[in-house]
Amino acid sequence: MIAKPDAIEQLARAPLVDPFGRDISYLRISVTDRCDFRCVYCMSEDMTFLPKRDLLTLEEIDRVATAFIARGTRKLRLTGGEPLVRRDVMSLFRSLSRHLTTGALEELTLTTNGSLLDRYAQELADYGVRRINVSLDTLDPDKFRKITRWGDLDKVLGGIEAARKAGLRVKINAVALKGVNEDEIEGLMTWAHGLGMDLTLIEVMPLGEIEPGRIDQFLPLSVVRARLLDNYSLIEDPYRTGGPARYVRVKETGGLVGFITPMTHNFCESCNRVRLTCTGTLYMCLGQEDAADLRAPLRASPDDAGLHRAMEEAISRKPKGHDFIIDRRRAKPAVGRHMSVTGG
Ligand code: SAM
Ligand code: SF4
Repeated sequence: MIAKPDAIEQLARAPLVDPFGRDISYLRISVTDRCDFRCVYCMSEDMTFLPKRDLLTLEEIDRVATAFIARGTRKLRLTGGEPLVRRDVMSLFRSLSRHLTTGALEELTLTTNGSLLDRYAQELADYGVRRINVSLDTLDPDKFRKITRWGDLDKVLGGIEAARKAGLRVKINAVALKGVNEDEIEGLMTWAHGLGMDLTLIEVMPLGEIEPGRIDQFLPLSVVRARLLDNYSLIEDPYRTGGPARYVRVKETGGLVGFITPMTHNFCESCNRVRLTCTGTLYMCLGQEDAADLRAPLRASPDDAGLHRAMEEAISRKPKGHDFIIDRRRAKPAVGRHMSVTGG
């Protein structure tokens, strides 16, 4: 049966609520799967990227985002791959900023490796971006090169400086890597807090095939936290960004440290997020294979009726949670796609 126009209009405004009563209010969009780095935990050295013709255009990304915002999305994060390597991505920020102006959207933000921030920080601030996440796992230039394979630490530090000068609040994200940066976590924290930036630590997740086994990289954040407790007082903090991190305030530095612990502590109960890939596939959970194609309904018609129906149907399938396991008995990653595809 074809729905009547007023039924579609109603659907296009109806809040998206999943079967477990969770309001979907946070959309992450991977605008490209490409990147100017090849971080060892994220990508293999010779990645095969998606053909450009499969990608949503920036106008199509705007259309999907706008449909989500009409249905209750309050926070939009652009990510990737590296979002700032997508050609003309600033025009997407510019067009999305209209939803900040109307108040429909609370926050427009991005996660970046920082390599192009010196070029784009001011424009991002002009388009209403207030807070950004910059991923940085080490302050040692050689180690940085080893982790990112292609990255230049000075360029990233310059980008962070440019962002701060443009008035953006910067949060540093670091993946805790066994035997690689575990001796540096305290240093990263005092550096970040010294500049007024919070630090969020992330456990390595089993996403996509990469060369070295992740079992060798995995460092439980419970261990990191216990080590920090040797020298610092950590006070539980209610601060939330809408993401999965849980925070403590460090009494000695005054700054916050966030812990994202998908491996040692499931964070699914309060999950309000869905993720759109650059080809228009909607993943209702980072750690599950189930997905919905939004590109076909988007391209089937210039009006959004089919898109709204597909969104509704997808959210009705959002699972309760994921169950990542890294252990020696499992040769394969829990999820075959790389983080750079789904968008971190
Ligand atoms: N390129 C941007 C960046 O690095 O910030 C955005 C995309 S990146 C995929 C987003 C975040 O995912 C980064 O903080 C990165 O460290 C993290 N990440 C990538 N692969 C991961 C994995 N297998 N486990 C945990 N975090 C991962
Ligand atoms: Fe690129 Fe970010 Fe993945 Fe590193 S973590 S390879 S910067 S997408």
